[in-house]
Amino acid sequence: DAAMSRAKETGKGRCVVYSQGHSGPPQHDISLEAAMFQAVREGEFLLYYQPIVDAQTREIQGFETLMRWKHPTLGMVPPARFIPIAETNGLINLLGAWALKAACVQLKQFEEVAKRPLYISVNISPRQFRNDKFLDVLDDAIAFSGLLGEQLVLEITEGTLMIDPVHAESILSKMTERKARIAIDDFGTGYSSLAYLKRFPISVLKIDRAFIRDLPGSQKDGAICNAVLDLAKHLDLSVVAEGVETVEQLQYLEQRGCQYIQGYLTGKPMAANVALAALKESMHRKVVPPELRQVGQ
Ligand code: C2E
Ligand code: MG
Ligand code: MG
Ligand code: MG
Repeated sequence: DAAMSRAKETGKGRCVVYSQGHSGPPQHDISLEAAMFQAVREGEFLLYYQPIVDAQTREIQGFETLMRWKHPTLGMVPPARFIPIAETNGLINLLGAWALKAACVQLKQFEEVAKRPLYISVNISPRQFRNDKFLDVLDDAIAFSGLLGEQLVLEITEGTLMIDPVHAESILSKMTERKARIAIDDFGTGYSSLAYLKRFPISVLKIDRAFIRDLPGSQKDGAICNAVLDLAKHLDLSVVAEGVETVEQLQYLEQRGCQYIQGYLTGKPMAANVALAALKESMHRKVVPPELRQVGQ
């Protein structure tokens, strides 16, 4: 759908400003940026939720919150297009605070339907992480939703940690005081040093889709995944494999001790009502004997 929304825009008076020097990538889409401010006022942003499942049982353990922008004429604008703009103009602080709070509230409803504890994972951008209001935003989300801190996972990238490690250390320790867990997103793709796994209070590694895509065929990707799983085991970290699309990938990872899976195979990002239906269905599958199950329940 990313390709589609891009195709739809072509030739519709898009204004693209290129970086100085001719070779760089397009930096800013001014029409999109202007539309973003209006989109905030019109409430065009929404949250999708992608299941994170247990690799063995395939039971949903939690969800990652993924932001969507439903533009009235462009359709779904993918986050890869609007997050970088929001990061540049600072709107990410507003959008991110909303996403965090809304996701925490949503998790409460998910749990009511599932009738068991779940967790919610939320992406935190570098600029949000550096913002001096961030801890207030976090406290507000936890207090307003009534969630336990431990039900919250905050996803940051290696880059976020490396910009200012001293500042990162203090923010991370305050996050963990609130019992929130820290996940390293897109693990292995950024500039970093393994020393930060020792220095910072990290709980989860999310193996980037780039290392999963060519499994089980690729020996190199297999070696990387095995090394990450081994490292995580010895450092007592959880691992989530991102972008799992095939049963073969799932089996490969599960056999090597990867505990959590996130990918199209076990659930695409979905609207909250669709996630609720999936939880309801799995709850019924557990407690209602097959002969009493109604179609569509
Ligand atoms: P991410 O945090 O690494 O999220 C995972 C991305 O992989 C999502 O893309 C998800 O839809 C996609 N994905 C999951 N499983 C599969 C699969 O099996 N196959 C394929 N091909 N893709 C899969 P999405 O939703 O387009 O988000 C892209 C990125 O945008 C995210 O990467 C994250 O960096 C950023 N993002 C999304 N929502 C937010 C947000 O609320 N705040 C911030 N700061 N960033 C966000
Ligand atoms: Mg993420
Ligand atoms: Mg990721
Ligand atoms: Mg990624």
